[in-house]
Amino acid sequence: MTKPKLKIIPLGGLSEIGKNMMVMESEGDIIIIDAGLMFPSEEMFGVDLVIPDINYLLDKREKIRGIIITHGHEDHIGALRYLLPQLDVPVYSTKLTQGLISVKLKERKALAGAKLRVVPSNGRVTLGKFRIDFFPVCHSMPDSVGLIIHTPVGIVVHSGDFKLDYTPVNGRPTDLSRLAQLGAQGVLLLLSDSTYAELPGYTPSERVVGETLDRVMADAPGRVIVATFSSLVSRIQQVIDAAAKYQRRVFIVGRSMSDTVRMALELGYLTAPEGVLAQLGELRGMPHNRIVFIATGSQGEPTSALVRMASRGYRQLHVQRGDTVILSATPIPGNEALVNRTLDNLFKRGAQVLYDKVAQVHVHGHGSQEELKLLLNLVKPKFFLPIHGEYRHLSLHAKLAESVGIPKSNTFILEDGDVIEFSPQSGKITGKISAGNVYVDGLSVGDIGRVVLRDRKMLSRDGMVVVIIAVNRQTGGLVGRPDIVSRGFVDTRESKDMIEESRDLLVQTLNRGGHLAEWGFVNAKVREVLNNFYYEQTKRRPMILPVMVKV
Ligand SMILES: [Zn+2]
Ligand SMILES: [Zn+2]
Repeated sequence: MTKPKLKIIPLGGLSEIGKNMMVMESEGDIIIIDAGLMFPSEEMFGVDLVIPDINYLLDKREKIRGIIITHGHEDHIGALRYLLPQLDVPVYSTKLTQGLISVKLKERKALAGAKLRVVPSNGRVTLGKFRIDFFPVCHSMPDSVGLIIHTPVGIVVHSGDFKLDYTPVNGRPTDLSRLAQLGAQGVLLLLSDSTYAELPGYTPSERVVGETLDRVMADAPGRVIVATFSSLVSRIQQVIDAAAKYQRRVFIVGRSMSDTVRMALELGYLTAPEGVLAQLGELRGMPHNRIVFIATGSQGEPTSALVRMASRGYRQLHVQRGDTVILSATPIPGNEALVNRTLDNLFKRGAQVLYDKVAQVHVHGHGSQEELKLLLNLVKPKFFLPIHGEYRHLSLHAKLAESVGIPKSNTFILEDGDVIEFSPQSGKITGKISAGNVYVDGLSVGDIGRVVLRDRKMLSRDGMVVVIIAVNRQTGGLVGRPDIVSRGFVDTRESKDMIEESRDLLVQTLNRGGHLAEWGFVNAKVREVLNNFYYEQTKRRPMILPVMVKV
């Protein structure tokens, strides 16, 4: 009999922030933990979202026993709406997480047929050879869990996204006693959240934000507008509570925020005292110091409610002097420019603006160094795999592990696609599969590749030049001078001479070549000649697109 093995393959979330997805395989059974998306970075021109590449899983579908989702943030659930139609396996999560998944699946009309199964936050599921116990963790999302996974080679603990807030707003504190118990029993492997491994000390409690909100609701002379993630249910609760305390009424603005709030109220994860929540129809005539808006837009997303309110997109709701705007979130890396532009617009409109740099309006949901060390100390794993973070976060987390006594050789810093195998005594990286990015742009998933992105990058940098070459159908000779149309390259009025010169140059080149039927050759030649000429003249390299017209 061969000895049991456990294979772990991260498909996303390692050496990057976002699109968390991890595969665990043992004895012919596969489970998947999380299926998230990533927001595109600046060089991904025009791409809406990035999701994990699941090619590895496609021919192993019959072995996949289920997807387990630790909590409802986009970097953990966001790819489900694209992947479920391909995988068609059951999804296990807590109740609120399921609610958020449903909202997202519905947006993409992928809800019908999805097998969503609810597990209590201290419940258990058995999937093939894996027995998985959920345990509650505190995070910036209620109903978040970590996982205790009993595998054929030993116990694996997956922290999920967590921090150790002892006074969370809703949801529960992280179940430390359970973890300590396991630590005494013997844990093979710990996978733990590295997002804030750079920060010393402890992450402040959510209560800190509650105190700020309380003060603002009491003192603000006019309307209060709070922008946050629609998924930050605990923050929405804090806003509702503070508003109620000062007899303000709360208006939910924008579709995704309304959908989430409705769902969370229905499932009991949000509560609002009678008469606090109001409909936009009741707005007219209401004194400004009785009004609170909750909207999306904390990331400066161009279509979000806050951005439209700041730019007069919403007539009745536009931001004005006397308003207090709170951005209750930190910009996700890559969104800083959009956020700053939104802040400027709000200042221009005369609003008082509170954001993370000037007030305690947000605490993040991940543990800092002392919390990470505490978890390592309690669980006492034989092996350690820092997850959820860029390479530097993982490295720093590995150092923390070393500092609490986990031998360096037992810690693994992985990248997406690395295959690592564990036996009860050993762990080692045994291979690599391809696990790149899949780009979602508009309605299409996956047909934007590196080539398209390179083209977009080039276009954005130096513009493009279209060359229209008329060729005589019979003789194959050039007819007239090629036409040149450019966009984003040079000011065509100022550079008229240069463009004319390049047309002459083409005539010389093409007439020399004789018959123009060899399109591949002509195409390459035109590009080469123009590339050199324009580079000499402008030090730019526009994208050159020759087009042949037969006349
Ligand atoms: Zn999270
Ligand atoms: Zn996360």
